[in-house]
Amino acid sequence: MPDWFGMTLAEAKTWATSLGLPAFRGEQLWRGLWRPTTTKVADIPGLPKDLGARLDAAGELLPAVLEQEQESRDGTVKSLLKLPDGKLVECVGIPTAERHTVCISTQVGCAVGCTFCASGQNGVERDLTAGEIVYQVLYHHHRRPVTNVVFMGSGEPLFNYDHVIKAIRVLAEPEGLGLGRRRFTVSTSGVPKRIRQLGIDEPQVTLAFSLHAADDETRSKIVPLNKRWPLEEVLQAMDDYANVVNRRMTLEYVCLSEANMTDFHAGGLASIARRFHAHINLIPFNPVTETHHKRPSPDQVNRFGALVEEMGGHITIRGQRGADIDAACGQLRKRVLENR
Ligand code: SAH
Ligand code: SF4
Repeated sequence: MPDWFGMTLAEAKTWATSLGLPAFRGEQLWRGLWRPTTTKVADIPGLPKDLGARLDAAGELLPAVLEQEQESRDGTVKSLLKLPDGKLVECVGIPTAERHTVCISTQVGCAVGCTFCASGQNGVERDLTAGEIVYQVLYHHHRRPVTNVVFMGSGEPLFNYDHVIKAIRVLAEPEGLGLGRRRFTVSTSGVPKRIRQLGIDEPQVTLAFSLHAADDETRSKIVPLNKRWPLEEVLQAMDDYANVVNRRMTLEYVCLSEANMTDFHAGGLASIARRFHAHINLIPFNPVTETHHKRPSPDQVNRFGALVEEMGGHITIRGQRGADIDAACGQLRKRVLENR
């Protein structure tokens, strides 16, 4: 079966002609993918019955089905989807008055293994296909139209680069969901070559860099990838990126009470933010079992934030959405796998 949800409209037409069908059959099928009632090819209106039956017999149309879901009192919906090979991925819908942001995964697990993150505790199992990435957005879109997409679920997006770029292109198709490029944010723990590439391939997408510490000694302890690409190598890639795009980038900084919140750390963070005119997102650590990290008190976060601002950094403290559910990246999947 082709990766239906990972196809552009043009590719769907080419697929049809490659089978000796008229191109418009490919277009009919492709348009049918975005309808909330479509679960198999035979549900798509206008297609010949025998074609629908033949394609449905060859495999499942939908790349994922719901396994479990939690809805928070604040409206945040965390969904655990099951892929055709039984693997589980998480995606989260976060509604506010004006927006509906969906946070999606790009890999099953993650190879980076940051010490505070549930997704990386057992390494990476596999990359998601473009269709599996797109479908997470579509799943939440059917509940309420999606306005923004953030690649901040499980996995390192820049280690699954081609499928991430493809997913953005499919989601941006005007004939499908038509999401503007500026509505996407790709978050990375820091892969220099791919940061440069992203600036060339998709200059309108926002880049978020998971900094978490502005000195190599601290950062290597919490983000193991820092040993492979030390901070300055990543920052130089970001300089090159900044030279080709004119989007403000974001620095993410998980506040770990005992690890990265001294005055020294605040100074380092402010200095990198000034270098890139970047906006800083302070994220109070969301407790994950089996990590030694401690959640800072609101006072500690406010004090750290004020210090960074005094030194010229612009910060937002990320409010905790979905506090009453397993909201941290990888938590729901981890709990379900442990109880299987
Ligand atoms: N792998 C990419 C994108 C997914 S992680 C990256 O690291 O950027 C997205 C964000 O969630 C990262 O900034 C990460 O640091 C943060 N995060 C992961 N686990 C967390 C936790 N337990 N508490 C708070 N933030 C967490
Ligand atoms: Fe991977 Fe990002 Fe989690 Fe680090 S924070 S383990 S890079 S998903």
